[in-house]
Amino acid sequence: MKGEDIVRQNREYTLFSWSVQSAVDPIPVTRAEGVHFWDADGRKYLDLCSGLVNLNLGHQHPKVVKAIQEQAGVLCCIQPSMATEPRGRLGQMMAEVAPSNLKKSFLCLGGADANENAIKLARMYTKRTKIIARYKSYHGSTMGAAALTGDPRRIPAEPTMPGVVHVFDPFCYRCPFGQKPATCHRECIKHVESVVQYEGPDTVAAIFMEGVTGIVNGLFVPPHDYWPRMREICDKYGIMLVADEVMSGFGRTGKWFALNHWDVKPDIMTLAKGMTCGYVPMGAVMISEPIAKYFEDRMLSCGLTFSAHTLGCAAACATIQVYKDEGLIENSARMGRILGECLEEMKARHPSVGDVRYIGLFSTIELVKDRTTQEPLVVPSLNKELRNRGVSTATPGNLISIAPPLIINETELRGALAVVDEVLYIADKSLK
Ligand code: PLP
Repeated sequence: MKGEDIVRQNREYTLFSWSVQSAVDPIPVTRAEGVHFWDADGRKYLDLCSGLVNLNLGHQHPKVVKAIQEQAGVLCCIQPSMATEPRGRLGQMMAEVAPSNLKKSFLCLGGADANENAIKLARMYTKRTKIIARYKSYHGSTMGAAALTGDPRRIPAEPTMPGVVHVFDPFCYRCPFGQKPATCHRECIKHVESVVQYEGPDTVAAIFMEGVTGIVNGLFVPPHDYWPRMREICDKYGIMLVADEVMSGFGRTGKWFALNHWDVKPDIMTLAKGMTCGYVPMGAVMISEPIAKYFEDRMLSCGLTFSAHTLGCAAACATIQVYKDEGLIENSARMGRILGECLEEMKARHPSVGDVRYIGLFSTIELVKDRTTQEPLVVPSLNKELRNRGVSTATPGNLISIAPPLIINETELRGALAVVDEVLYIADKSLK
């Protein structure tokens, strides 16, 4: 099929996410391999955003493809009340890489339903209902996950699930408490504890936060003591600490999970994306041993027809094995150091760059009209300019996301960053 016919048929019969339908301009993708994909006209693009920050192994990793093919030849799917070899193996592999207090997994299909089930688990276990989440957050688009979500994607879904209270974020570049690094007294942490107290600690089931805030909300890495202090607050009031590691997990930040950077153990961790890289949709809720024990003699009121889907389990086992065999968590940390240096150089070179934020292979460039006023600079043509130069990434608002597959090598990374650098001159020019 020709590219234009693929696009026409897609647009005529299917709906595109988060878009005004008449405005969508999708690339007709016909094949992909490693860090690249190709359109129907044979044009090659470097995938600088790993799809939606899920293709950590890049495209079409042969070992994962083979594992799916082999599993499909034997057993595609069986009801979740049955036990299968890939399911048990996956559970064990997850327990081996996760923080040591998390052993059991509830296996689901993606990030949103992982969070839906995490809400239920926290509520059932604590017998409390309220949840504290952050404003600049995204946790999924189903009703419970949308209620947790603090960003504007929540609003069209309202009224969502009741009981979620939002708090301000540890966004140091634009501190919601008006502080600068020199004057900061961790108002963002004290604020969370105040909200817990005002809401009534006995009513709060969970504090629910992304390990590192995702790309659309501006990717901010919290101060070093943020997660440890959240752990303390949760311990003090008997609240479940839930880490949403859907985007920040599986090596994205240069460690297996973002919370490893601060040596914090959550009570519940939600996962998806890099778990199978999306080769088969898959997610998980991992729970601490006390929560698992609680359900040993009580009903676990969670279920999905496709829970512990056999193809997903086989894909996830192969994916985790590839992370280990190819040293990809280490590569993410190593390439992340180069990425960080390059981003700092770009910031020094380009007046339109207000801030760069990065950890591992997870980063963003924030554009501003003026570094003093920090007024956001939105350049609508930037995405197309990048695409025209063979680089595909997300450019939400005044941000340029850089989160390539963890398999990327230095030459590929520097090549892609040179393209970003070139495009930043266009942003600089728009200042004049
Ligand atoms: N949580 C986080 C942190 C995410 O970034 C996302 C998706 O981007 C989700 C949850 C929702 O995942 P899904 O789109 O698989 O439902």
